Amino acid sequence: MTRPRVVIAGMGDTGLLTARHLSRHVDVVGISTKPALVSGQELGMRLARPDGWAREYHVGFDRYRKLDGVRIVHGTLTQLSLADRVVRVRLPDGSTRAEPYDVLVIATGVTNGFWRRPHLQYDEDVDAALRAPHDQLAAAESINVIGGGAAAINAAAILALAWPDTRVALYFPRERALPQHHGRVWTTVAGILEERGVSLHARHRALVPAGFDLDRITTDPVAFSTGQPEAEADATLWAIGRVRPHTDWLPETLLDETGFVRVSPDLTVPGAPGVFAIGDVAATDPLRGSARNRADRLLASNIRRQLSKRPLRHYRANRRRWGSVLGYQPDGLRVFTPSGRSFRFPAWSIQTVLRPWIVRRGIYGGMRRHR
Ligand SMILES: Cc1cc2nc3c(=O)[nH]c(=O)nc-3n(C[C@H](O)[C@H](O)[C@H](O)COP(=O)(O)OP(=O)(O)OC[C@H]3O[C@@H](n4cnc5c(N)ncnc54)[C@H](O)[C@@H]3O)c2cc1C
Repeated sequence: MTRPRVVIAGMGDTGLLTARHLSRHVDVVGISTKPALVSGQELGMRLARPDGWAREYHVGFDRYRKLDGVRIVHGTLTQLSLADRVVRVRLPDGSTRAEPYDVLVIATGVTNGFWRRPHLQYDEDVDAALRAPHDQLAAAESINVIGGGAAAINAAAILALAWPDTRVALYFPRERALPQHHGRVWTTVAGILEERGVSLHARHRALVPAGFDLDRITTDPVAFSTGQPEAEADATLWAIGRVRPHTDWLPETLLDETGFVRVSPDLTVPGAPGVFAIGDVAATDPLRGSARNRADRLLASNIRRQLSKRPLRHYRANRRRWGSVLGYQPDGLRVFTPSGRSFRFPAWSIQTVLRPWIVRRGIYGGMRRHR
């Protein structure tokens, strides 16, 4: 008997996790512009310590034991035909392949800066894209970080730690940064930033230069629509959260007015039988938090339920953002809960418990050592 075929569109953080849950039960095809997992997490570490970042976050698909048997197609999705239940993929040689599905998972993510882009890459391209911004920032004596969300805060904190002699300034538009987190989170994090010598500039709304696509680190002075003088620095990192969904390959009927994929509480896409969506591209809730809230398990279970005609379960979003914000620090990994309180994995436990047991074994279901 042939098994149902699930096509995962986009093998980033959530596509990979969804594939990992399904691979033993159905035929899974993963389609990805990247040759490996290139995670969207931990911007600061990626910029400051690209080699260390790559060991954890640029990981060959063949290292994941639970992806054994998953067929990976390296290419760019160009079209979805709902009537035929087929997606079309442009392969690196320019030819096009049709991939039929019984179930399609849309997990193509978003662009929010030069570190997350949807274009086709090989491993060498990924390595080069890690190296160039690191070199530019390492050579800078002063760095502006623009933005008030987790990516900007994470970057400012880690760059200041990596290069204590570099002047790091953080500019954000409101009274406090991290407006989507509980207020306690900013109080804690602002203290850590100040301890590291980061100068904090509230109520500074930067003007994005005309025609600039946030695709690089800039060197010109930054102007502010809020009236303050321009801020000069050798390098300016833009992390202003201007997200752009990777949905140009989808019919417009599936998208909301901002271009994200409409989803029902059970993660199905209305008007598209057999289609689900997850991750940053999916308009599950105002914060689009299904990636960090680990909805991949629910999604995999709902796909199996739909295939066996059982009722689906609902995704419940958090009203506030939560997570690590600062990422891995010398004293361990602090995780902020939605109520703004935090707990910490101590430094000794990162390599002995957190990474081997919680991440590699628990989250990914076992990983091989080689790259
Ligand atoms: C375990 C885990 C822990 C997390 N912890 C935190 C945290 O502490 N704090 C926090 O803020 N967030 C956290 N997050 C969330 C994370 O920062 C992002 O939300 C997550 O990276 C988004 O995943 P995604 O799969 O939606 O997108 P991505 O990982 O960006 O994947 C999308 C993929 O689709 C590909 N693609 C795009 N277009 C096409 C196309 N046309 N054809 C083929 N491929 C295409 C892209 O190149 C990319 O590879 C966590 C996520 C996970 C899974």
